[in-house]
Amino acid sequence: MFLAYALLLIPSAMINAASQELSGRDNDQFAIFVALFIGEYLIAIFLHEMGHAAAVLIAGWSVEFIAVFPLGYRLKTARLGWWLTPYADFGGVVMFRATHNRDRARWLSVVAAGGPAVSLVTGAVCTVMASALLDGAAATIVGSFGAVSFFIGLGNLIPFRVRGVRSDGAQLLFHLRQA
Ligand SMILES: [Zn+2]
Repeated sequence: MFLAYALLLIPSAMINAASQELSGRDNDQFAIFVALFIGEYLIAIFLHEMGHAAAVLIAGWSVEFIAVFPLGYRLKTARLGWWLTPYADFGGVVMFRATHNRDRARWLSVVAAGGPAVSLVTGAVCTVMASALLDGAAATIVGSFGAVSFFIGLGNLIPFRVRGVRSDGAQLLFHLRQA
């Protein structure tokens, strides 16, 4: 967990740099920082959860519930509600039903890896875009989003457990041992 929060400093510093670049007056920089911070994390966590959800579908299983703090969506009833469990996936979750048991442990490994895989690819693409294709404010924003994506991907790959909830890394190790 400590390592995860240490990693958080890098994206925060990059978002801070982006907010400095965007702010015309000194007094609006903090508001821009907060908006960028929240916006980038929500998008990065959403993409991460889409990675898990895509893996569930590829496995041939069914997705039941997708959440990005503080909202969750239950697919069966098409109902949006509050989801207040920010420690899972640093603020997101995909719940699913394994509707068949073929290669169960192997597919559970793929589902655990799907979120971090999307986060790391997004991080790499944004970092390359920010350094090679963009400049100015666009580069700092896309670059900071790349760092946030890396944080979400790497942070979730660290095997740990909070209140009975396993991180993606812990789940991956658990299921790979059984596969
Ligand atoms: Zn995850």
